[in-house]
Amino acid sequence: MSNNEVTKWVITSAWPYVNAIPHLGNMIGSVLSADVFARFCRLKGDEVVFVSGSDSHGTPVAVAAKQQNVPTKDLAIKNHTIIKDLFEKWQISYDNYTITHNPTHIDFVQNFYLDVQKNGYVFEKELEMLYCENDNFFLPDRFVEGICPHCGDENARGDQCDQCQKLLTPLELKKPRCAICDNTPILRKTKHWYLDLPKLQDRLKGLINQNEIIPQNARKMCLNSIAEGIPERAITRDLEWGIPAPFEGADKKSIYVWFEAVLGYVSAVKEWADNIVKDEKKYDYFWKDSNTKTVFFIGKDNIIFHLIVFPGLLLAFNEDKSDSEKLTLPYNVSSTEWLMYENDKFSKSRGIGIWIDEALELAPLDYWRFTLIYNRPETSDTSFLWSEFENNIKTLNDNIGNFIHRTLTFIDKQFNGIIPKKLEYDDTDKKFIEVINNIKFEIGDSISSFKLRKAIRDIVNFGKEGNVYLNNKAPWHLIKKNKSEAGHVFNVCAQAVYAFGILLSPFIPETAEKILTYLNVPLSQNLKWDSINENSVKEGQKIKRPEPLFEKLDISEIKNKLQEIKGNKDKLGGKKLVSYEEFKKLDIRVALIESVEKVPKADKLYKLSISLGEEKKTLVAGLAEHYKADELIGKKIVILVNLEPRKLRGILSEGMLLAAVDGDIVSVISPDKDIPTGAKIE
Ligand SMILES: [Zn+2]
Ligand SMILES: [Zn+2]
Repeated sequence: MSNNEVTKWVITSAWPYVNAIPHLGNMIGSVLSADVFARFCRLKGDEVVFVSGSDSHGTPVAVAAKQQNVPTKDLAIKNHTIIKDLFEKWQISYDNYTITHNPTHIDFVQNFYLDVQKNGYVFEKELEMLYCENDNFFLPDRFVEGICPHCGDENARGDQCDQCQKLLTPLELKKPRCAICDNTPILRKTKHWYLDLPKLQDRLKGLINQNEIIPQNARKMCLNSIAEGIPERAITRDLEWGIPAPFEGADKKSIYVWFEAVLGYVSAVKEWADNIVKDEKKYDYFWKDSNTKTVFFIGKDNIIFHLIVFPGLLLAFNEDKSDSEKLTLPYNVSSTEWLMYENDKFSKSRGIGIWIDEALELAPLDYWRFTLIYNRPETSDTSFLWSEFENNIKTLNDNIGNFIHRTLTFIDKQFNGIIPKKLEYDDTDKKFIEVINNIKFEIGDSISSFKLRKAIRDIVNFGKEGNVYLNNKAPWHLIKKNKSEAGHVFNVCAQAVYAFGILLSPFIPETAEKILTYLNVPLSQNLKWDSINENSVKEGQKIKRPEPLFEKLDISEIKNKLQEIKGNKDKLGGKKLVSYEEFKKLDIRVALIESVEKVPKADKLYKLSISLGEEKKTLVAGLAEHYKADELIGKKIVILVNLEPRKLRGILSEGMLLAAVDGDIVSVISPDKDIPTGAKIE
């Protein structure tokens, strides 16, 4: 792509689920990468609208709201506000970060699907679905777990196997179980509305084949999936919390979250046009122009959805539209592999990883932005390593920070803060000047082809060349015999400092702003990527007194702080304080385990017969992977007696055994003195 071309972009990042704060892996996987790209395109003078939002429907947030006894909508909006605020703190330059629970989106989705139905791509089907008799509802895909039919992974979910990335339907799972209560669900009849993707199969294949831009791995994945046959997919669910399905006879059904959040890419631009820039035409201007380039920053698990299902929906919608009414088809996806944390998977429950709210308390924002892009998992999984974090910031400081600081301090001290005059170039100058003049093309080409990691590493290399130039010229010697020659060197270096100010601004905007402020470049002026050249900074310009741009990281201190933050969270656990009266309602007692049996077809569960003195009770407890039966028989334990009885695998469990849990360690709590069974815990 030429660097002079003006393009219209719709830039998007994946929609984070409203029930969880994103972690560093989510950040680099889509949000931060998209931001770098959007900032770059704006600097190039392209027209950009950059959108995303919180995916607010679906079951997990509804379940959480039920637990907290608040309306689902309130909880969704509260969480959305927290996530939105965090993205602002991360300086993600969205033009609209919205939420799927908003009138523009709901309206858009309902009308969209009525059109898709009118065009003949929706059909109804009666089918049997998994229903949990214990929880009394049809299990949404993500609430069924079982064995993946493709790779045998035991923890595949009903919508997808995280191990082999294959999309699944719940009925394909072997040994399905309810993710909430672990019971085996039953089949029950219901009616759903389906998207006829098979009908679009050939056209989708054509689209993939025609698209020369998409990455090879994505192309391969899509063509494989098409060759296996794209399944018809149900677009409705038996769920209350969601966008009501607009089809006749579909009362009490909602549109499946996957099938509506993806349309948020379109509706968020509509909402932006209507409510933010207040120019309705802007929506058509971006989405209904086939020259607009739409790009989706996503994790690798989302490729099929964005390159097959989403374009399939657009084709179905577009079928009866005139050319000026058609929504434009995807231009590209930029997908990443996974970011791990110290070679382990991010896990909230095990406390492994760093979440984006925590990161902000640990180190300056730009350090995170830099290190995440520097190690962006572009072609293979990468790991966030503390040692690498330290090294990366050292690299940034040694190569760029020091060069800029040496240049600006020298000009400040030796030239009264005035950019000195340039003389004739010698060969050493010419070599470095050529680098300065070319750097915008080199870095621009990398970003344009979504190689952000290469781009930032080449900017660091540019810093290395700056230091080489400075050392070769040794202006600190020159100044003793010929001040104007030393001044000349710093004029050249000031051009490079300006280049850094522009080049770094998509990546680490706060630092870039500081650099340009030291150079006294008015930031209100529309800065342009193409303004980088050998004469960007004028002789005679007064600069400001600089401060060092970066500090060395004290990793052990940061790690301690992280522990502290996580510790505080564990103490509160996000839970409210309980009053003494509430606590007194709990009947907790010492009990004796009299017998232990395995529960058939449940690997984790034991059925325990316990005695509270005169009274006997049955408990079902998930201890089978942690204790042998004879380790438990005769043991005195602590149980919550007056918990509402609950059926697990057909067995009524009349209370709950108390145990300490930390990751994989489970330890049953016992009194440390001999005390009669039935004794009260107070
Ligand atoms: Zn699998
Ligand atoms: Zn259940």
